[in-house]
Parts: sequence; structure tokens; C-alpha cells
Amino acid sequence: MKIIGHHKEIELIKTYLSKNYDSLSLLYEGKDCIGKKLIAFLTARGFLCEKKEGLGCGQCHDCKLVNNTVSNVYEKTNLTPHPNIKFIPYEGREIKIDSVRDAISFLTLKSDKGKVLIIEKAENMNTESSNALLKTLEEPPLNTLIILTTSNQNQILPTIISRLKKIRFKKLSDEEIKDVLIQKISDERKIESLVKISGGSLCLPFSILNKENVYNLAHSYYQLLKTKKHPEALFSISSVVDKFDVEDFNLFFDIILRFFEMDLDSMKLDNKFAEKFLTEFKKGKNAATKGVKKKLILEGIYYNLK
Ligand SMILES: [Zn+2]
Repeated sequence: MKIIGHHKEIELIKTYLSKNYDSLSLLYEGKDCIGKKLIAFLTARGFLCEKKEGLGCGQCHDCKLVNNTVSNVYEKTNLTPHPNIKFIPYEGREIKIDSVRDAISFLTLKSDKGKVLIIEKAENMNTESSNALLKTLEEPPLNTLIILTTSNQNQILPTIISRLKKIRFKKLSDEEIKDVLIQKISDERKIESLVKISGGSLCLPFSILNKENVYNLAHSYYQLLKTKKHPEALFSISSVVDKFDVEDFNLFFDIILRFFEMDLDSMKLDNKFAEKFLTEFKKGKNAATKGVKKKLILEGIYYNLK
């Protein structure tokens, strides 16, 4: 796994690591899918490295074990992981107190080496989990590294934030997104359109990569919303989308929202449409969570905007 961009942020992390603090607690903040989690693991590698070299020498026993952990997380391998890293992944729901308690007792267990805790998308901790973690952050055990990643720090307790050294990660540049996509596909036109829709993050490009039909339908649907013509075309789209599973339907909505943001950025929309679009879009998303038929939602948005 290779880090894309973020050179300044990495220099800052290396500086923190080189200071050999008794304990170090960090917040990695920035958009989803820009590499924060990978950098958190490589920070752990630097912290655990026998030679204490930057983000890890990559060659020592500890570095190799951390590399195994990274491979297990990203490539679903089953290699011997580094025993001193606890990772709480985001699994699409709130982070419960049990996982946090478990992680805290792991940090306090005696060990001759450092311990690392990484919490992904920490904004999903509930109140109980947050309070438990706060106590540990107030008096962290010696020789520990705690890293929280988040794309929405406003949802994290301010008292937690104040205990962390914050590193803000910028969006990826178009060039950086392109460099990643070139490794995966060769169709240049496709790469260009994925870069365009990326908004500085790899979330949408990666999701769309194997879901071209979702992308195409979202594109046509959004154009129909703007032109307010061809209801018959709309019916055929809404019938296809009606059969989507939750994941594809959410992606369909994410793509439409991104098209809308792109239009807003380039000031291509009149205010009235923009305002109405947002209201209808939110209403539609809300209806979807309540199990309203997808076809009805899509047709509803179209007619209410007309
Ligand atoms: Zn090393």
C-alpha cells in the first residue's frame, strides 16, 4: 500500500513521533477515502519500529508485522498481525462502549513495547463510548499512541478533541486521484469523468468503478430533473432503479448530489432550483430510509421540482 500525497501532514507526524512523548494522541481529520486510515497504520509502524525511523524502516520485525496488519485490513489476508495494535474499524453503525472498553484494557496491559489504538470514523462513538475514551485520553497509559480518524469532527465531544493533536488532511488533487485510477483502469475518458466527479476523494470513483450502470442512470436522471422534460424517460429510469439494493440506491443518490454540487460550484444553477432541489432531495432520502418505494420517490422528486 502506498500513501498518495499529504506530504506536509506526514512531515508533521514524523516530527511528533521523533519527540518520543510518553504518550501521543492524534486526530486525523479530513474527507473520507483520502488515505487517513492507511497513514494511521503507518504512524503506528513508525511508533513501533525498532529503529524509530520516520513512518517505520519497513524492514525490522515490528515493521513487518505492522505491514501484515495493513495487508489484513486492506487485502483481507490472514497474516500474523502486530500484537500491539488494536484497530476499531467502522462497520456502518455506532461504536459501542464494549469495543472501547476492550481497547482501553488492551492499552493498560503491561508490555515492554508501545501500544497503539486506532479508531476509524470516531464520530460514530456514542456518548458512553466517548466518555470512556475521554477518561483514557485524560490519563493515557505510558508508551501509547492513540489515533482517531474522522470526516466530521463536529460530531466528536469537544473535550475529546481538546486532548488530541489535530492533523487536517486536505482533499486529494485531480492529479493524485488520476494516479490512483490509472493503476486500475486504462480507459482515459472513464478516468477523466471519475476524476471530475471525485470531489478530491476516492469514495465515489471507487464505488462507481464497477457500477457504471448506476452512474449512467444517475446522470440521466439528474439531467431530466434539470430540463424537466421527457417524463417517459424518467419512468423507465425509475423502474430500473426500483430494483436496486440499498447500496446501489445510496450510491445513485450520492452521485446525483455530487452532480448538483458540481453545478453549484460552477454557478450553473438558479437559486430557486438549487433550494428546491435540496429540499426534495432530503425528503427523498428520508423517505427511502422509511421504506417508501424507490420508484415513487424518484418520480415524486421529479414532479415536485417541475
Ligand atoms: Zn522498522
